[in-house]
Amino acid sequence: MSISYGKQDISDSDIEAVVSVLKSELITQGPQVPLFEKSLADYVDVDYAIAVNSATSALQLSCFALGVGKGDLVWTSPNSFVASSNCALLCGADVDFIDVEVETGNISILELKKKLNWARNNNKLPKVVIPVHFAGQSCDMQALHKLSTEFGFRIIEDASHALGAEYHGKKVGCCEFSDLAVFSFHPVKMITTGEGGMVVTNDENLSDKIRRLRTHGIQAGGSEPWSYEQVDLGFNYRMSDIHAALGVQQLKKLDWFIEQRQRIVNRYYKALKELPITTLEQKNYGKSSWHLFVIQLPKAKRKQVFEFMRKHEIYVQVHYIPIHTQPYYQSLGFAVGDFPNCEKYYETCLSIPIYPTLTDDQQVYVVELLARALNV
Ligand SMILES: *Cc1c(COP(=O)(O)O)cnc(C)c1O
Repeated sequence: MSISYGKQDISDSDIEAVVSVLKSELITQGPQVPLFEKSLADYVDVDYAIAVNSATSALQLSCFALGVGKGDLVWTSPNSFVASSNCALLCGADVDFIDVEVETGNISILELKKKLNWARNNNKLPKVVIPVHFAGQSCDMQALHKLSTEFGFRIIEDASHALGAEYHGKKVGCCEFSDLAVFSFHPVKMITTGEGGMVVTNDENLSDKIRRLRTHGIQAGGSEPWSYEQVDLGFNYRMSDIHAALGVQQLKKLDWFIEQRQRIVNRYYKALKELPITTLEQKNYGKSSWHLFVIQLPKAKRKQVFEFMRKHEIYVQVHYIPIHTQPYYQSLGFAVGDFPNCEKYYETCLSIPIYPTLTDDQQVYVVELLARALNV
């Protein structure tokens, strides 16, 4: 019995929806993409949604749309997947990081304030900040928004983990406190399209721009009946209707998925009480979507536990190796020691299985193995 830290749940009706697209005239640029966009926009209560082929593309288009380019600075969390910062480098900008809270894995607002004050005095203020809602828990967006008006930066939420999560009673991605937000539909995320992503915003201009950039910088228009106009330099980052059909079906089950994850979390809380571990602190301003269930172990035990679990085919994972310690980022001048809280968090973290179809028996087995790995 092999158990992964996360995986998709595909039902027969999902498969039927995909097959019916395959049997239709339009397998891309048909009706499913706008339907998925509309459904998701309604779900998070936002004006515009643009489907793309990955969250990585979504992040890059978001940076482009905000005019990020050479000479600009973008700040994000070092406790994330590399795409959160690569998007800015791909636009020609420079990247810096904000250290995180060891208790939540999210960027520390205190550290951000300190860094902004330093940056103002040194003429190094960021153009864009990309908060990452780690494991599905929202960052403190009100505090971040306040700082954005004081220091004049824009905000792209990397909500890859947080579709369906809430912040002060509203869905993450409603963009009340940000310019744009981005979701991922990779199979381990909250819902899946195989590969896929979405940008959401309440800003019509940004939406138009991203829509154009998604498809070569081309828009309708021109004087001839066959005309179209390329007005920007863009990409082909479109989502196909095959993928979008899956997304439409998956989205219908999102609330049920989150309920299942919450049920699993409640069971973990009870079962793990006896073990020498801690779990991520949950702020009372919101509700996590529980993309990940992270436990924090004594540093000296983490590797041993990882190897023991893997040996028993429990595919635990580490989220994340701090981005600034990746060889590529070290070649840009970052070094181990630059973001000590993130590194401290990293040395203790382990993601254990959580996904909607994880059974009670499987969960009992995971906990039993954890106890054995910790020799308790
Ligand atoms: C998964 C993920 C991405 C990238 O998503 P893709 O859809 O695989 O491109 C970006 N940021 C974070 C935080 C992620 O977890």
